[in-house]
Amino acid sequence: MNPFAYQRVEAPDAALHAIAAQNAKFLGGGTNLVDLMKDGVENPSLIIDINHIGLNRVSANSNGATIGALVRNSDLANDPNIITHYPLLSHALLSGASPQLRNMATTGGNLMQRTRCFYFMDTAFPACNKRVPGSGCAAIQGFHRIHAILGQTDEGATSAHTCIATNPSDMNVALSALNATVEIQGPVGKRTLPFSEFHRLPGKTPEQDTNLHPGELIVAVTLPPSKFAKNSWYLKVRDRQSYAFALVSVAAGLEMDGDTIKSAGLALGGVAHKPWRSLEAEHALTGKPATAETFRKAAELALAGAKPHEHNAFKVELAKQSIVRALTQARKGVEA
Ligand code: SF4
Repeated sequence: MNPFAYQRVEAPDAALHAIAAQNAKFLGGGTNLVDLMKDGVENPSLIIDINHIGLNRVSANSNGATIGALVRNSDLANDPNIITHYPLLSHALLSGASPQLRNMATTGGNLMQRTRCFYFMDTAFPACNKRVPGSGCAAIQGFHRIHAILGQTDEGATSAHTCIATNPSDMNVALSALNATVEIQGPVGKRTLPFSEFHRLPGKTPEQDTNLHPGELIVAVTLPPSKFAKNSWYLKVRDRQSYAFALVSVAAGLEMDGDTIKSAGLALGGVAHKPWRSLEAEHALTGKPATAETFRKAAELALAGAKPHEHNAFKVELAKQSIVRALTQARKGVEA
């Protein structure tokens, strides 16, 4: 690990002042950043500890929720009001990592999690456009079973734009289906971003994971009034039952009017560079009876643009069946 300086700050303004230093990074729980520093993927010269700036409160009821950026994943997952009004979020959080990691990991840090692409994480591989912009992509001609099938950039292994990485977070998938908003504070004031605009597709700049500007700080995530408290499900399909990232995950929420779907939220994880919310599928579900046929049609629409690679073609049908299963469980209710 390279030498670095450590600075503890006590307020958001002080954090924003400190981050103006070159090559500085915020430290929350450190569950991703410290690993990346040990592996030489991230090499900040200054670490700014923001754990004591007061962004660690949750308020939630049926009219909405505000989640401070430094709320720990365990605290959020076990918050009684989150469990009651946003069980989809609690369910997704408890599917992620391990209890020890959830005790440290923060809401803002979860949004900023970096991909677990093998070739990004291992500096022995010189070609990675995300780690070394312009160097190419080792995953295209390597082992890409865990990689993206939607929204990726594939212009060949030597292109400066190619990236087929996925976003590894479970929480992000639920926040996407719940139509969250990200509150941001920066050097020129505050702004908000719809959750769907926070993370990016690789496009021509795969080194950028998000639309957060340099020097900005996530201060909170907010949720609109709860619609899916009675009918939601988070399904995570992975190689082992615990402490593994999703091959495919589905966050499904249904607002029911009898047997008819009044509105729906549907997002996928493990399939794209960002949480993949499918508005097409949500629209296809709205106003329809909650049947297996309706769910399968929505699944087909959600995966209509899929472009898998040699090792991850299985993800397309896996994702479709996972959508049907998650929607079926959601229809049964949160106690299913
Ligand atoms: Fe790097 Fe993206 Fe290619 Fe992985 S998929 S090696 S993160 S450019």
